[in-house]
Amino acid sequence: MDVQGYIIRITPYSEADGIVTLLTSDGNISFYGRSIFKIASKNAVAIQPYHFVEVSLIESKTGKNRYTLKRAELLSGLEPIIKDITAMSALFTLGEIFNKLIIEKEDARAVYPYFDKGVQAIKSGFDPLTSILIFFAATLRIIGYGIEISSCVNCGSKKDIIGVSALEGGLICKNCRALEYTIYDSLSINIIRYIFMVPAEKYTHTSFKKEVLLPILSGLRAYTYDIIGTRFKTIDDFLKIL
Ligand SMILES: [Zn+2]
Repeated sequence: MDVQGYIIRITPYSEADGIVTLLTSDGNISFYGRSIFKIASKNAVAIQPYHFVEVSLIESKTGKNRYTLKRAELLSGLEPIIKDITAMSALFTLGEIFNKLIIEKEDARAVYPYFDKGVQAIKSGFDPLTSILIFFAATLRIIGYGIEISSCVNCGSKKDIIGVSALEGGLICKNCRALEYTIYDSLSINIIRYIFMVPAEKYTHTSFKKEVLLPILSGLRAYTYDIIGTRFKTIDDFLKIL
């Protein structure tokens, strides 16, 4: 069986072998990679994090691992950004968001277009912070933790939106300001709407200023920690070098 996709996770299994997870347009698939950590291995060059590859897998009905790697071919590597520490860091952030939030295969399938466009965006020099926020919001929405962005989550009003409530899971209007919420100005609220709505094909349509995006990223992190208990080390690393 031949499949194409992004190498999203490599877990060492023994000294030279590992379990590799590939994100494909049909969801994620894991396979056993023999000798992938040996530099002399013919597959070692292709099997690296976030490479887009084509792999030939051998299916076994009896073994412990259903699929074993036969051959891997690198289709698109990280050459354009390998020396760009901000872009590389953004790419690793996309990977951690995927690995920590996506569990179901159908969610992996749904998030694939965003991962694909996000990686391409970062590799082509698109704003890394905007890239992270779009992927983060899309992933939350796909796993069922999107926020109500069309109107006030409490009363349904579309007017006088003044912030976002993590607890209520959506926008908050002026009349509902007694609820716990974080204040955002109207530009930020429009950006929050945008990142939760933008289709994958329009990933690179618009980028936004760092000053406006940072409080939104901070809000999304707090929200994710509150509802799922997940923290992202790569976001800390990214913010340090941004
Ligand atoms: Zn309201």
